Amino acid sequence: MTKFKALGLQKSLLDAVADLGFETPSEVQEKAIPILLEDETDLVALAQTGTGKTAAFGFPLIQKLDSGSRTTQGLILSPTRELCLQITNELKLYAKYEKSINVVAIYGGASITEQARQVKRGAQIVVATPGRMKDMIGRRLVDISKIDYCILDEADEMLNMGFFEDIKDILSNTPNEKSTWLFSATMPQEVSVIAKRFMHSPQEITVGARNAGTSTVQHEYYVVGGRDRYPALKRLADTNPDIFSVIFCRTKRDTQKVAEKLIEDGYNAGALHGDLSQNQRDLVMNSFRKKQIQMLVATDVAARGIDVDDITHVINYQLPDEIETYTHRSGRTGRAGKSGISMVIVTRSELRKIKAIENKIKQKFISKTIPTGMEICEIQLYHLANKIKDTEINEEIEDYLPAINDVFQGIEREELIKKIVSVEFTRFYNYYKKTRDLNTVDSGERSERRGDRGGEISSNGSVRYFINVGEKDGYDWMSLKDFIRDTVALGKDDVFKVDVKDSFSFFNTDAEATERILATFTEFKVDGRFVNVEVSRNPGGGRGRDRKRSGGNKDGGRSGGGRRRDRSTSGKRRDRKSSGNSSYSGKRRDKRKSDFF
Ligand code: ADP
Ligand code: MG
Repeated sequence: MTKFKALGLQKSLLDAVADLGFETPSEVQEKAIPILLEDETDLVALAQTGTGKTAAFGFPLIQKLDSGSRTTQGLILSPTRELCLQITNELKLYAKYEKSINVVAIYGGASITEQARQVKRGAQIVVATPGRMKDMIGRRLVDISKIDYCILDEADEMLNMGFFEDIKDILSNTPNEKSTWLFSATMPQEVSVIAKRFMHSPQEITVGARNAGTSTVQHEYYVVGGRDRYPALKRLADTNPDIFSVIFCRTKRDTQKVAEKLIEDGYNAGALHGDLSQNQRDLVMNSFRKKQIQMLVATDVAARGIDVDDITHVINYQLPDEIETYTHRSGRTGRAGKSGISMVIVTRSELRKIKAIENKIKQKFISKTIPTGMEICEIQLYHLANKIKDTEINEEIEDYLPAINDVFQGIEREELIKKIVSVEFTRFYNYYKKTRDLNTVDSGERSERRGDRGGEISSNGSVRYFINVGEKDGYDWMSLKDFIRDTVALGKDDVFKVDVKDSFSFFNTDAEATERILATFTEFKVDGRFVNVEVSRNPGGGRGRDRKRSGGNKDGGRSGGGRRRDRSTSGKRRDRKSSGNSSYSGKRRDKRKSDFF
């Protein structure tokens, strides 16, 4: 609050800040707000999505407006209807204690007459998509000839969507002596062109690295045969039971098809593309926001407006044609300081595209292999066990317990646990036991520690471990890697293939380190809780023991692998507090078995 005050905001806005619960300004707000309040200047601000750009321009704009006049003084252009509505709602909250300020949204797919009516009533701020704006200017339904401020929000996305001409037209209807504030995540050529042509010696601020992808995103690629894209996608989903993801396809048709197949296979999936009605799209987005949909299959255009934090994975079912589009896709995850993973399913012939993307985003991809059926079974088994452990007991079952106890009479604890876990596990096991390896061998040179296949310790001496901490304990792949490295005192690249799940994780090291790792994590406690490491039965990263059984059942059928439409736990997914201290405290696998199974 006081920090916002120091930026120069007036009382009515500080009260709104307090209501919004903002404590400290984000970096872009800290840099932009004082400049915009003090000077009449053009500004170029580069900042990733989720960094709080709306408030960075919204507060100064509201403070500088003449609320006594009903003339339109501020125009905000934004790429999509969703963003347009979001900005409008946000600005209304900022202007909560400035009663005479009206903010009107102008966008396609809704009544133009109604929007014109709202403008006519007096809108000091108009938030618009370029297409509808141009339309309304053409019909003289809006007058922007007297604006003082023009804001281009998500400029790179607008240009990506082909709005260059529209923006040019719109700007030619605005006065020369105004301030233009341009906000963008990246600075491609087209954005510099706009800045050069329509702005006067703009001040520039940059948050984070210029043109770089979000560094909290890990980029991975998986090489498969062209016809294995769908089964590969399913396996990636099954390896990440708590996935909350956007899956990108190139065409509307593929988008629809993949979503339908996922739904048929029992996943919580939905489609988002331009052939759906606005109403259908709103329904899908609402379910996604509520996490009832875990896998949202979308086209690039339809996904523009998605502004949901917490997305754990972006999956490129197919690579986009434009490299720039990849940046936008992967930027959907790793928002608001969280880490995320961007996965790409590629065929061998597309591998050169990966290189091109690496050059562009200045970040390396990790070559990964699609998990084998048995690896997925192992992950699902641990996931299920942890889910049972974390399940809150429903007291309503009390009355039924005597009868239920009768049913289970004479069954030993150990056997009972085995049975409970088998209920679900068998579904995965039966489904995956006959499936083949989906990986095609790639060139090898770019691979991360390739060759670990068939057995605990692979030919090149890499070992995979299970560790009983995960996301719920506050770890992501980066921090867990650091934790293990620091605890065991290993070198920078000695811990690899770190896969963090909800309540447990996997990682690899060279075989030489195994003894030290297991010794270090014996009787090892963090905050009173045992942190336990064991050698995993599966080698990790795919290429499993069941290679020989190729030609078996191909994934993709209805038979299993999917998850039940069970939403009971979805709300808890990111609740870090719920992990508690009650870990299974076994030292080696056999001990844990008796503790747990
Ligand atoms: P961007 O436009 O950069 O993608 P937004 O302006 O949409 O980001 O902000 C992302 C989220 O962060 C929104 O939910 C917003 O309410 C919230 N937010 C913005 N500024 C702050 C702040 N200073 N403190 C806490 N939350 C903030
Ligand atoms: Mg924004």
